[in-house]
Amino acid sequence: MPIYANDPSRRTWLSVSEESDFPIQNIPFGVFLTRDDIITIGTRIGDYAIDLGALHQLGYFKDIPLTDDIFLQDTLNDFISDGQKTWRLVRNRISEIFEKSNETLKNNEDHKTVVLFSMDEIEMQLPVLIGDYTDFYSSKEHATNVGTMFRDPDNALLPNWLHIPVGYHGRSSTIIPSGTPIHRPMGQTLPKGADTPVFGPSRLVDFELEMAFITTDTNVLGEPISVDEAEEYIFGMVLFNDWSARDIQKWEYVPLGPFLAKNFASSVSPWIVTLDALQPFQVKSTEQEPKPLPYLQQKERHSYDINLQVAIGTENGNETTISKSNFKYMYWTMAQQLAHHTVNGCKVNSGDMMGSGTISGPTPDSYGSMLELSWQGTKPVKLNDGTERKFIQDNDTVIMKGYCANNDVRIGFGEVRTTLLPPFEAKKKG
Ligand code: MN
Repeated sequence: MPIYANDPSRRTWLSVSEESDFPIQNIPFGVFLTRDDIITIGTRIGDYAIDLGALHQLGYFKDIPLTDDIFLQDTLNDFISDGQKTWRLVRNRISEIFEKSNETLKNNEDHKTVVLFSMDEIEMQLPVLIGDYTDFYSSKEHATNVGTMFRDPDNALLPNWLHIPVGYHGRSSTIIPSGTPIHRPMGQTLPKGADTPVFGPSRLVDFELEMAFITTDTNVLGEPISVDEAEEYIFGMVLFNDWSARDIQKWEYVPLGPFLAKNFASSVSPWIVTLDALQPFQVKSTEQEPKPLPYLQQKERHSYDINLQVAIGTENGNETTISKSNFKYMYWTMAQQLAHHTVNGCKVNSGDMMGSGTISGPTPDSYGSMLELSWQGTKPVKLNDGTERKFIQDNDTVIMKGYCANNDVRIGFGEVRTTLLPPFEAKKKG
């Protein structure tokens, strides 16, 4: 089915600024609370949030096979379950409704009043109920940097790394939308030179610059997804900050991998940009040597050219961009990750979230974590206000942004923004 919604020449009757991440060619999906405190599924064009529940009730999606309440829900899971054909029909229809020459909604003031919201009238929610969350470790530059620091520069990559998209099962209960502050976690760490651990606030709180993809129901238990079909089961992507406590991680991760160092928070951008909208930004993926096993050999192996950046905002309102990376640096593609994830018959559900792993580029200014940017604290990162950071301080805000651009169109993700508060203090009783 053609994706008319991607037509770069299309213009909308809504006013959209040139630099907007959300032109009419984007049409992402999200969930928000309206000014009347009603939860609904919506999309965004420019700085307008569009209530898809209201549009559907007013008949704008008639002749697309959708249940009556598909957009009147507090998550996108059921809509995602409807599959790629439905996503395309709906994106194409939204594009038509807001296309410049279409006057149906444009000239209906009553309808516009219930359908359109300004961004400051609404509150974005988590877009999906995440049943399961998996985090991969698929940037070769990141894995090499970490292996060099923690183990051996001559054998930085472990022997399995070039053969398997390495990953672990994370915890979905602490995935939060942009804007939700978090507390510096408490935990066990082993001080340098000590042989018994201490308990206290983590002193090495870090971000991980990642993206995550969201799946639809892909398979029945026992059935693998082939690498060449895998992308049909990916609904879209978000920016993903996988908060990490490096000192807790170092002490706890042997032998079963990350645990409390990783599950205190992961923050996501609230609009899911569909893989369809990202199609014009497919790029050839990096060569793989050695060749992976046949079930991981993807015919048209491609990545996506998504510019990424991280900034630290300080309490006094100062903001400094500290890293610029790109999703295209990933060694393993999303299709390879999903094929590997299901090759043993593992079932994947609608709304599952898969993190890419920290996305580091080849140069030191493109590293995706403070661990790498400050090289374990040996090279402090300078901020605009003259202060330095080795890791993230209390009351710092970490801001991640991402966008694709070519000569015709810019498709962006908006941002994921999270403030790190001091450790949680229980309210005193009495
Ligand atoms: Mn991670």
